[in-house]
Amino acid sequence: MKLTPMMQQYMDVKERYPDAVLFFRLGDFYEMFFEDAEVCSRELGITLTARSKGANNIPMAGVPHHAAEGYVNQLIDKGFSVAICEQVEDAEAAKGIVKRDVVRVITPGVVLNSDSLDDKAPNYVAAIGVKGRGVKNEYGIAYLDVSTGDFRVTEVSRQEELRSELNRIEPREVLVPKSAEALFGEVERHLDGVFFRPRKNEAFEPKALLSNIAGGARLSGDIDHDAYFLEAGPVEKMFTHVHDFGFESPDVVQQAASAVLDYIVETQRGIPTNVQEITPYHAQSFLVIDESTKANLELTRTLMGGRRQGSLLSVIDKTVTAMGGRRLRHWLNYPLVSLDAIRRRHDAVEELVRFPALREDIREALDAVYDIERLCGKISSGTANARDLRSLLSTLAIIPEVKEVLSECDSEFLVELDEDLDPCHEIRDLIDRAVVDDPPVELTEGGLFKAGFDDELDELLEISGNGKDWILRYETEQKQATDISSLKVKHNKVFGYFIEVTKANLHLVPDRYIRKQTLANSERYYTPELKEMEERILGAEDKRKTLEYQLFQELRKRVGLEVGTLLRTASQLANLDVIAGLSELAQRLEYTRPDMTEEPVIDIDEGRHPVVERTLKDERFVPNSVRMDPEQRLLIITGPNMAGKSTVIRQVALISLLAQMGSFVPVKAAELGVVDKIFSRVGASDNLARGQSTFMVEMTEAAHILNNATEHSLVILDEIGRGTSTFDGLSIAWAVAEHLHDEIRAKTMFATHYHELTELIRTLDGARNLSIAVKEWQDDIIFLRKLVDGEANRSYGIQVGKLAGLPEPVVERAKQVLENLEGGQFDEMGIPMAGRKPGEAPEPTRHHNPNQLTLFHGGASLSPGQKAALETLDEVDVNSLTPLEALNVLNELVQKL
Ligand code: ADP
Repeated sequence: MKLTPMMQQYMDVKERYPDAVLFFRLGDFYEMFFEDAEVCSRELGITLTARSKGANNIPMAGVPHHAAEGYVNQLIDKGFSVAICEQVEDAEAAKGIVKRDVVRVITPGVVLNSDSLDDKAPNYVAAIGVKGRGVKNEYGIAYLDVSTGDFRVTEVSRQEELRSELNRIEPREVLVPKSAEALFGEVERHLDGVFFRPRKNEAFEPKALLSNIAGGARLSGDIDHDAYFLEAGPVEKMFTHVHDFGFESPDVVQQAASAVLDYIVETQRGIPTNVQEITPYHAQSFLVIDESTKANLELTRTLMGGRRQGSLLSVIDKTVTAMGGRRLRHWLNYPLVSLDAIRRRHDAVEELVRFPALREDIREALDAVYDIERLCGKISSGTANARDLRSLLSTLAIIPEVKEVLSECDSEFLVELDEDLDPCHEIRDLIDRAVVDDPPVELTEGGLFKAGFDDELDELLEISGNGKDWILRYETEQKQATDISSLKVKHNKVFGYFIEVTKANLHLVPDRYIRKQTLANSERYYTPELKEMEERILGAEDKRKTLEYQLFQELRKRVGLEVGTLLRTASQLANLDVIAGLSELAQRLEYTRPDMTEEPVIDIDEGRHPVVERTLKDERFVPNSVRMDPEQRLLIITGPNMAGKSTVIRQVALISLLAQMGSFVPVKAAELGVVDKIFSRVGASDNLARGQSTFMVEMTEAAHILNNATEHSLVILDEIGRGTSTFDGLSIAWAVAEHLHDEIRAKTMFATHYHELTELIRTLDGARNLSIAVKEWQDDIIFLRKLVDGEANRSYGIQVGKLAGLPEPVVERAKQVLENLEGGQFDEMGIPMAGRKPGEAPEPTRHHNPNQLTLFHGGASLSPGQKAALETLDEVDVNSLTPLEALNVLNELVQKL
């Protein structure tokens, strides 16, 4: 079909951005065509129309340009990318069709406009480089938040590690090489709300990227844009840094970094200068928290509903700045394992706990701090306006104050923080000299700069200023000359300057006045001298606007050159906010400093669950003490449902984790050795949605723990083995516990309603039984929430059922059945009567033979001979007996009876 020149232009642009929805600027609208129009109509609920009716009907949809942002955000949230195509030359100056080009592409992971971002969370785009195809691959992971310049890389070697790491990073978008796309299906399934994008393989080649950047012309096209892009040099330096860091496969990590940067070049047309540094790290240098542990412990969002409210983060976040909020989240996702580093943070928190005045001063100062990291993003990408610079200025202005407070601090962390906190005097002075206190949002209307900043600007201001004085004088003169006391010289945008005379005075108007406009009650005139002055004033104003805009671009560029320093300062402010916030937390919620030790112990005196203690309404939270060390490394915790088993095991994990991220902890006192990994498994149910059976999920997770835990790990297991028949489940739970105890020797807490597991302590010397105390009162139970030595003696299932509101007849019936089961009312076949009438057939269930029950449980009534026989039996290892030995044992038994 034959296209109009405009549609031809559209097709040419679209061809370069096939994967994005193209917003094509036509006058005051952005128009979408073809499939994009259909997508927008469907996703945004806007009307689908058609361009050129008739034979060539092109589907079209449009949004007004001033309302575009909301629509763009909606599309991004749904995982689309949006390419913004603008008119890039003045429509009046254009010969033929106006030139248009894509100025930027917005994708879920690449958003620069801070208004549409969550203040307290990063917005990462990640990429994965991969080597190998088998079970053992090498994966490089790179991720960047282009709004802050935060850019990190690491490597992992197994799919499950990859999943865990991505789960910590929480990227919005993940780029994977097209050729290896199939590898990531499973990973993608595990990451909710993350958009995976296959990218051509060349995107993963650093060399290609570098030459691309070196040939910068292609990137910036002919567009006169305001962004300041990195040259090839600094980018090459990042790659070298990655290479020298000590990764096992630096090349795969570089591939990942390359893919991220390539995506930025494609979407932003270059790499903004706020992306200055790359931070490589080894995943093992931090406490390992895998994906289900992170979910189960509800670190950053709740298990049900995925909300931030109710997560650990929501309880511990007392930061006052967005940067601090993001940093805290990072600390929580990456707790430390170095004793020294942990103590350094604790020292700092302690100092601000002990000197509340210092803390308050700091927090008060920080309260006025803007998001420098995102301001730097705007500056680098050329979207910052004069107000943004003023925000930067007012933030820099508080630094001397902060430094003064810090000069009184002694802890190493805060002393070093102070040293790295650059007050950026030059930038501050520069902005302060240049920009007026309350500048307009628009950059093209003037009014941005202070007098005295630029000579030429001053001159123009003087001309228009003088001109205005002249006008005032002229008005007075004309009043006197004409004797019209109500005569006014006015100005408006359309007619410029004019003399206004009311109808009543028209007879006094001199001939020299030239009529310009007639209104209902007045006439407007001009004179040659007024006209001349008007031209001078307007000329100066026009020039001034253009000049101010230019000056502003220069100013922004100069500030842009300093983003490196600004970002380092921002980072220190973020750290300070986190430390001060953690002190505030400690103070307000009565957290105490844990004693971090080289010893392999976890010894908690009166610990509390940080989240549950905040959510209880009618009950008081009952603190519990727990000790684990090599001699008691497996704690088996029994107690009825709802007693508080999950709460107590989780709180131990959370306390360790909080301590290692640098926080004080909700305890009366605690001595804590550093753990290398935390694993948490709960009887799974939430994974059902992913189409795996509960049992399968549980077993996969159990396998994961057994394959990855070490002697230094902390493992908490909650009701594992529930998803299968009792005996299978019990056997697996038993074997898992044994393996953790004997082989791995990890510190393990095992909450279970399998009473049988309490028998483990007979054979495992590092195992202990604990239970959560309950009190019976009449027919009810009262939860005491107290962890006590020894196993629980009953399960109280029926009472809990009653509490939960089971209908009375069901409760009564259940009691009857239980009584029969326990009281040994059995029929002649040895099957519990359980309320059956004699002669009725029992349900086919597994059951114990009542005679066996008496044999084992009625120990007191046995004869000495029977006892001796039982003891002998107890020592027999059937598996290792030869048939002959078995006969001998049998003989021995008979003798004893
Ligand atoms: P279980 O795992 O034994 O079934 P949970 O640990 O889930 O029990 O606890 C059930 C509820 O009991 C919790 O939601 C909380 O409201 C309350 N609870 C648990 N531990 C305590 C405690 N130490 N003090 C006060 N209330 C608690």
